[in-house]
Amino acid sequence: MVFLGGMVSPEKTIDFLIAGQGLAGTFLARDLLERGKRVLVVDDAQRASSSRVAAGLLNPITGMRLRLAEGTPELLQNSKALFARLEREHGKRFFTPMPIRRVYDSAKEIALKAQRYAGEEYAALMSEDCPPDSTAVPVNDALGSFVIGEGGWVDLPLLLDLEADWLRRRGVLLEGVVHPGKMDPDGRGGIFWEGWQARQGVVFCNGYKAGLYQCWDWLPWQPAKGEIIDCQTSLPGAGEILNRGGWAIPLGGGRWRCGSTWEWKLINSRPTPGVEAELQARLEGFFKVPIAAKVVEHRAGVRPCVRGSHPFCGTHPKFPWMHLFSGLGPKGTFWGPTCAQLLADWLCEGKPLPLRFDLRRETLAR
Ligand SMILES: Cc1cc2nc3c(=O)[nH]c(=O)nc-3n(C[C@H](O)[C@H](O)[C@H](O)COP(=O)(O)OP(=O)(O)OC[C@H]3O[C@@H](n4cnc5c(N)ncnc54)[C@H](O)[C@@H]3O)c2cc1C
Repeated sequence: MVFLGGMVSPEKTIDFLIAGQGLAGTFLARDLLERGKRVLVVDDAQRASSSRVAAGLLNPITGMRLRLAEGTPELLQNSKALFARLEREHGKRFFTPMPIRRVYDSAKEIALKAQRYAGEEYAALMSEDCPPDSTAVPVNDALGSFVIGEGGWVDLPLLLDLEADWLRRRGVLLEGVVHPGKMDPDGRGGIFWEGWQARQGVVFCNGYKAGLYQCWDWLPWQPAKGEIIDCQTSLPGAGEILNRGGWAIPLGGGRWRCGSTWEWKLINSRPTPGVEAELQARLEGFFKVPIAAKVVEHRAGVRPCVRGSHPFCGTHPKFPWMHLFSGLGPKGTFWGPTCAQLLADWLCEGKPLPLRFDLRRETLAR
């Protein structure tokens, strides 16, 4: 493809082309537009993107090791501040703050919790231990439980739809596929793509699929397929998310969401036969009483996971017109708003990214 300088009309001259309107592309587009940058967001409209499939949990303490990420209070605050601001702007609620009850699975976990609880940062987010039968709904909690604060869940399809409408109203959202093979450098730090000129280049925000392109395949991607179900049950929720191995979110009116699975070999976004029943059994297993669960929806997607668990942000070391925002892994609601700000600081002001989020971290740390 050959473009001649000066052939692109001013309306088709932008600062950044953003590939993908999942959480990464959505948060980054907001940030750049609010800083006065001209952007074009192009999304291929695959309904099974990770962001549309995800449960939307915002949980500060996760995993078997009950770990807190560095800077958790600030990360949580940034996410919640953005959600609150967007809710006000759109006049719609998509974030439901909700305590997360971690139900003990083993004596080992109880000991680990006690160890963590001794630390100030952890104690600020965890309750003391609760004896069995402390919950309003009849949970299988023979070993007791504790409560994690500052969490909740986000209705991600609603958030993405509201933001897509906002972008569309500005005429900066298109349906299409951005492929690195279909763009040319403009020789001044930008690119030409499909008749557009993006003077500061392209930002790949296309989830795990960025790792399928040669320009990004050298990064340590570890994409993980995940599946979740929504069930109608006879059991109303009691305003708490339950977490033991997996999790169950009360959506209201007897509806529960339950997940999720982890699969690293068969990477696709198709619901797997049999997984629905596995997740239904998991949901039922949370409770001491039968709940008459009926699956109403079963979804699958691929988490953009990476080695080291922190997202990848930054600019390609060889091609300065190519940037990346991916690797949000299983925690897009937690990392996304902060990383979008940090990446925008880098792209707009040249402010260096913290090493843990910099896609060059493995080479820079040597
Ligand atoms: C089962 C499951 C449960 C999860 N639960 C949670 C949870 O509870 N809490 C949480 O925070 N996170 C959760 N996650 C993870 C969360 O979904 C991700 O961290 C986050 O959504 C990733 O966002 P993204 O924008 O990087 O990628 P994606 O959501 O994959 O978005 C990429 C977008 O780019 C588009 N696209 C792809 N290629 C192109 C191209 N070439 N050109 C144009 N567009 C393109 C895609 O269609 C998509 O719209 C879960 C994920 C799964 C699968």
